[in-house]
Amino acid sequence: MLFCLPWCVDFVQVQSTVYANSMFTRSALLTALRRSGRLPACNDGFRSAGKCRTFLNIFRNLRPTSEPPPALNDNDLFHPFSKSPFPAVRARGETIQSLALCPVCTSESKHTGGSPSRVKYECPDCGWPSHCSEEHWEVDEEHKKYCSRLREVNEDEHDLRRGRKMREFHLPGPQAYEEAISFANWDLFWYTRGFPSMDTERSRRHATKLLTYPLTIGSVLHQNSGLTLNNRRVTPEGSRSLAALRTTLHVPPGAPDTEEAGAAKPQIRVFILGARAESSLPPHVWEQLCMLFPSCHLHLFFIGPQVSLPKPADEAVAQDTKSSASSTTEQREECKESPPLYVPNIYQPPAPKPIARLKRTRSSVQLYGFPSYTVPYTPQLTVTGIQANYSEVHGQFEETFDPYTDAFFLFSPGFGFPSMTSVSESNGIPLLQIASPTEWGPVIPALLASRCSIFVTGFSPEDMERDIRSLGITPNVAGEFEWVINPGINIFGSEKWEVADFDPRVMVKANWGLWAIRGKGRQIRKW
Ligand SMILES: [Zn+2]
Ligand SMILES: [Zn+2]
Repeated sequence: MLFCLPWCVDFVQVQSTVYANSMFTRSALLTALRRSGRLPACNDGFRSAGKCRTFLNIFRNLRPTSEPPPALNDNDLFHPFSKSPFPAVRARGETIQSLALCPVCTSESKHTGGSPSRVKYECPDCGWPSHCSEEHWEVDEEHKKYCSRLREVNEDEHDLRRGRKMREFHLPGPQAYEEAISFANWDLFWYTRGFPSMDTERSRRHATKLLTYPLTIGSVLHQNSGLTLNNRRVTPEGSRSLAALRTTLHVPPGAPDTEEAGAAKPQIRVFILGARAESSLPPHVWEQLCMLFPSCHLHLFFIGPQVSLPKPADEAVAQDTKSSASSTTEQREECKESPPLYVPNIYQPPAPKPIARLKRTRSSVQLYGFPSYTVPYTPQLTVTGIQANYSEVHGQFEETFDPYTDAFFLFSPGFGFPSMTSVSESNGIPLLQIASPTEWGPVIPALLASRCSIFVTGFSPEDMERDIRSLGITPNVAGEFEWVINPGINIFGSEKWEVADFDPRVMVKANWGLWAIRGKGRQIRKW
C-alpha cells in the first residue's frame, strides 16, 4: 500500500519494549525494576508508587540507585542527520538522500524539463536533508513553513534514543471499578487512568504515538466514548451497533464492572485487518485496552500480509539468556542498534521485525493454515497474529461473526490509493485498492455481509476523504453500507508528525481521523 504509515509505531514501540518489557515478560521486568529500586515493590498502578510495601520488603532500602546519565542532555537534542550520534538516525538521513528530490529543482524541472537532483544539503535549522544545495535551500520560501515541524521530529528522534528514563511509557495497572474513565481528550484520559503527568509536549507526542492504536479502539467502543448521538458523530443506526457491543463489553448499570463479573460473558473479538506495525506493539501496551473493560475477555486478531510474527523459538532462547544482564545495560545495548539500521517508510515495506516470543506463545499454523501465533497474555487478553491476506482466512470466521461480540478495525487502509498490483481490464489504469482483487476488493463486501461494525482511520483529512470517496464508486460497496460513525477527527490520534522519507514535505499523523460503517444487511452474501 502506498505511503501507509507502517512507520508509525517503530521506535516508540521498541523503546517501550526496552523500557517496559526488556526481559520478554512483564513480570520478569517488574522484578528487575523492583530489585533496582526503580519501581516500588507492588506495582498495581502508577498511583501506588511509593505507597505499597508488603511485610516481606518492609525493611528493604527503596532508595533509587543512581541512574546512568542519558547519552544527550535536554539541550543537546538537535543534530543534523549526518552528524547524529545514533547510527539509525544517520542511516535514515542516507535513505532520505537516496529517495527524496529537491523541491526547488522539482518545480524548476516542470518548466525546463530537466531531471531534479536528490536532496544532499542538510538544512541547518531542522537537520533534515532538504535540498540539493545551499543555494536552493536559500531560495525556498516554502521550507520555512514546515522547518520547525521537522526540527521537532529531529529532536524527538534523538530524545527517544538517548537512553533517558521514559516516564511517559510507564503504563498504569488495572482501574479501580468505582473510578470512571474519561475519553473527552488525552489529558482527561491520562488523569482518570492514573498515568504519570505528561509535562512536556514532547512527552505527549511520545505517549500518544504509543497509545493511539489501543486507545482509538477503546475510546470508540467504551460506553463513556466522546463520540455520541448528541455531537452527531454517531448515527442512530450506529448507536444501535455500539449498544450491542457495549452489552458484552460492560456489565448492566449498577453492577460492579470487575473481572469476576465477566465470568459468564462471551469473548469480544477485535479483528485488526491489514495490520502492520500495530501488530508488533508489545502486548503490555495492548493490555491498556483490556483495562478499560475490566469484565471483558478480549481476543485481538492481527491479520494481514505484514503482520509481525514471533522470533523463532531457538533465537528467543538465545536472546533470553543474553537478557539476564541488568535492564539498564540492555537499554544501552539496544540503543547501539544492530543492522538493518533503518527500514525506509515507503510503498510496500517488509513486515516489522519479529516480536518477542513469550512463555505462552504458541504456533497457530495448524489452526489457520498460515504462519500465525496465539498468546494467551492474561486471562483478559489473548492475541493472535495471522500473516495472510484477510480474504484467505475469512472463510474460517465467516459463520461465527456476531455484531454483539465482533468488530473490525482498519488503520489507514489506503482504500482510495491506486493498487500496486491490479489494473483495470478495460483501460489498464491501476484499480483503487478498495476494488483490487489482491487487496481490499473481496474483503469489504464480506465484512459488510457480517453486519459487524467496521471502524476505519485515516492519517490526514485528505487521506480520509480519498478513502471515503472510494466507497461511493466501488461495486458491491456503494449503496451497501450505512454509517455508524460520521467521519471526523479522532480524539485519540497520535500527536506526533510522521515524515515521509521519499519527500520530507509530506507529514501526517497516525489515526488523525475516524469513521465507521456497517453492512445494510439486506442479504447474506456468500463469499
Ligand atoms: Zn535543487
Ligand atoms: Zn529546515
